[in-house]
Amino acid sequence: MDFAFDSQTEDRRASLLDFMEGYVYPAERTFHDQLAALENRWAWDSVPVLSELRAEARRRGLWNVFLPSEHGAGLTNLQYAPLAEITGRSIHLAPPALNCAAPDTGNMEVLAQFGTREQQERWLRPLLAGEIRSSFAMTEPDVASSDATNIGTRIERDGDQYVINGRKWWITGAMNPNAQIFIVMGKTNPDAERHRQQSMILVPRDTPGVEIIRGMEVFGYDDHSHGGHAEMSFTDVRVPAANLIAGEGDGFGIAQARLGPGRIHHCMRSIGIAERAVELMCERVTDRVAFGKPLSEQGVIRDWIAESRVRIEQLRLLVLKTAWLMDTVGNRGAHTEIQAIKIATPATVQWILDKAIQAHGAGGLSQDFPLAEAYAGIRTLRFADGPDEVHKNALARTELKRQAAARAAR
Ligand SMILES: Cc1cc2nc3c(=O)[nH]c(=O)nc-3n(C[C@H](O)[C@H](O)[C@H](O)COP(=O)(O)OP(=O)(O)OC[C@H]3O[C@@H](n4cnc5c(N)ncnc54)[C@H](O)[C@@H]3O)c2cc1C
Repeated sequence: MDFAFDSQTEDRRASLLDFMEGYVYPAERTFHDQLAALENRWAWDSVPVLSELRAEARRRGLWNVFLPSEHGAGLTNLQYAPLAEITGRSIHLAPPALNCAAPDTGNMEVLAQFGTREQQERWLRPLLAGEIRSSFAMTEPDVASSDATNIGTRIERDGDQYVINGRKWWITGAMNPNAQIFIVMGKTNPDAERHRQQSMILVPRDTPGVEIIRGMEVFGYDDHSHGGHAEMSFTDVRVPAANLIAGEGDGFGIAQARLGPGRIHHCMRSIGIAERAVELMCERVTDRVAFGKPLSEQGVIRDWIAESRVRIEQLRLLVLKTAWLMDTVGNRGAHTEIQAIKIATPATVQWILDKAIQAHGAGGLSQDFPLAEAYAGIRTLRFADGPDEVHKNALARTELKRQAAARAAR
């Protein structure tokens, strides 16, 4: 078993680490200040310092490294994993600086894999160039959306157009006026077999009948630093029939294909968040003295530090194994491991952030450290891309089947 990264990955890692130290971390404060000075608070990707970072990332060959196909940098999942982890250390700035931020990554994957040549030219090309942004609209306020077959939005054929009616919420990035294209999931045929009722369609933001209602908040954060999470409605929205992605009834399958890489990318970046939290925790407890000795000499705090290190190493091994499986046996073959990391990572990183906050005292809850916002963010990952319980349910089903087959074969 060889745990070393290949030389290409090591070179990119070195370049990315250097980029983080020399450009990204020093720009964090500037990004925050420039964002606060914007006329439209949601237009986060127009912040000047981001353009500078993007130019440097391109120069270093770090642009679009998430995309394995000929449209991107052509890296395997195993090559991308350690890079994504590093970007997680500056979660608001590094992923977009590399054009590797959700939800655009998943949307670009959908267009690269299922889009027609015209759809790719119209929407994928500017997304790959970082000129526009996009959103993925599946979840609805009126139905339990963890079961995607519940989706009620209608997509109805009318001549050479489709007409869309429905209401969505938690649509990440959609408050940003530069999110110019939405991939919308809805039902084209409610009478078809359960997993063939849904389709996906491209809806340009400026289409009449598209309304952005409000931004949703997460524990009071509006997440404007990456375009918020919109509640929105579609009322008699008409788009050309050519905007359908793949065929009628293919929506559920595309959603499954989109979520595989999306889930592992979230987990890779989350490990970077955890590493930064441990770094901050160690620095803080070394400097502060209580009851006659540095906090770092309190047994309970040493236990948090040790446990954090053990848990990060466990997570990273599982994430790398999953990335390797995706590369070698495909996303389907890695299904159980993708579910396992999606269950393990947000809960573990949440635990580590909680300890880092506690070690900081009340300051840990404040705007002076990135920990509270990171905590709010990681908590949302226990819903986004599927709640924990849905993944556990499916994983248990696979395990029960596997055990039954093993018993039958004895
Ligand atoms: C910050 C954030 C960003 C998001 N971004 C997007 C986005 O860009 N686009 C988008 O379409 N959606 C997005 N979502 C929505 C997210 O995908 C949904 O919240 C998620 O799929 C769950 O759907 P729901 O909220 O309707 O919960 P429900 O379906 O109402 O489920 C509620 C709870 O029921 C339980 N439950 C459900 N099924 C099972 C089961 N099988 N077994 C046991 N328990 C179960 C779980 O505890 C679950 O949390 C985002 C959410 C958040 C918080």
